[in-house]
Amino acid sequence: MLSYIKQIIQLAKQKNPHQPEFLQTVKEILESIKPVINQNSKYFKANILERIIEPERQIIFRVPWSDDKGNIKVNRGFRVQFNSALGPYKGGLRFHPSVNLSILKFLAFEQTFKNALTGLPLGGAKGGSDFDPKGKSDLEIMRFCQSFMLELFRHIGSDTDVPAGDIGVGGREIGYLFGQYKRIQNNFTGVLTGKAVNWGGSLMRPEATGYGSVYFAQEMLKTINKSLEQKICIVSGSGNVAQHTVEKLIELGAKVITMSDSHGTIFDKHGISKEKLLWIKELKNIHRGRIKDYTEKFKAEYFENKKPWNIPCDCAFPSATQNEISIKDAKNLLKNKCYLVNEGANMPCDSEAVKLFLEKKILFGPAKAANAGGVAVSGMEMSQNSMRLKWTAKEVDKKLKEIMIAIHKNCLATAEQYNAKGNLVAGANIAGFKKVADAMIEQGIV
Ligand code: NDP
Repeated sequence: MLSYIKQIIQLAKQKNPHQPEFLQTVKEILESIKPVINQNSKYFKANILERIIEPERQIIFRVPWSDDKGNIKVNRGFRVQFNSALGPYKGGLRFHPSVNLSILKFLAFEQTFKNALTGLPLGGAKGGSDFDPKGKSDLEIMRFCQSFMLELFRHIGSDTDVPAGDIGVGGREIGYLFGQYKRIQNNFTGVLTGKAVNWGGSLMRPEATGYGSVYFAQEMLKTINKSLEQKICIVSGSGNVAQHTVEKLIELGAKVITMSDSHGTIFDKHGISKEKLLWIKELKNIHRGRIKDYTEKFKAEYFENKKPWNIPCDCAFPSATQNEISIKDAKNLLKNKCYLVNEGANMPCDSEAVKLFLEKKILFGPAKAANAGGVAVSGMEMSQNSMRLKWTAKEVDKKLKEIMIAIHKNCLATAEQYNAKGNLVAGANIAGFKKVADAMIEQGIV
């Protein structure tokens, strides 16, 4: 007879045949929680695995809008409300042409356990659209966001589901989405996080994921008596997570030599300084330009359509998108003596790459732990909104750091408890799973 875990993985394949990303994460998570399933018959008795891989609700809707020339366009909108055992659904919205149900289910499933690790009362969700914000005018973005919210509003609320940003959804989009929600509902409530600071946003929310990722890396390095000072670091991406990862790395004395976007990678052997980073922020956040433009302003090499993973480094911070480190990239990193890989993005390393890093016992920070800083500060934004209070940047940063240290400690201790010493993937999956699964059992068959 097949083991309980294998049966459920097979069932997931039958029920979700064209969803490779979702199946990848289901397999990865279920296989790594084997020890806890084997030791606790209560999970089998409550059939918790079959229940936990099924989203509580999946909403798919039409988003019609018109471009500046009056052409009528239609995109597909999604919200996957995966699990509310620990609190209101919480997770970002992604606007990118690659968005589909499989990617959002993978992200929402991961988010459920990530949110559990923060220790905050948050369920897991994810949503978005296959809309491509690139090349669109501000008015087109606004019209799209308004149409998207015209359907989404009925499914969300400050005690029901609190979306945030993700790829393609930054402060501008959150503003338009919030404005439309407020207009429809006639109520000013903390229904979205990542809001601007002067109308309900938390200080440090934009910085949180990147800073948190670096705090997590610091904790991993401490276990081998190292710090980030003078370490050569490579970072992928040049969006929200990448920018703030680079900012914190520079502050802590590391030398960052790469950033990238979906068109290519820049390699600055002199290091990206604070001033150069400011220029990149303006390029990306205001002019919405390409990272290639960096080479016209500063001395650096540019590799068209290439990722940074063959450039020698001590530490790598993949911070762009899923599956950006393949087994070949992983081998390159190891060949070049990289000893720390920290997942700023969601699932940037594919399964084989993760397996190799774990086999070679380098320091590996899995996304659901390493990038949990963003949702942690989103949780703090919700608290501040409910209390009608505002915490200082220093207070939020202190809490963020404490949460990242606690997550690392929890993952490390859980891994050790289940005979997987140093394996933070197992530690994060088991700790997150136990918290959600126990709450589900306590709440009955719902
Ligand atoms: P942004 O949209 O701000 O930036 C995304 C970056 O990744 C851009 O530089 C983009 O390049 C690049 N990118 C996107 N797709 C690809 C691709 N297929 N190949 C190479 N590069 C690509 O998003 P965020 O920084 O917010 O998010 C980055 C990652 O971090 C995502 O995986 C997200 O889910 C995860 N994350 C984000 C959190 C947050 O708080 N923002 C929280 C936790 C996780 P281009 O400009 O060319 O599109």
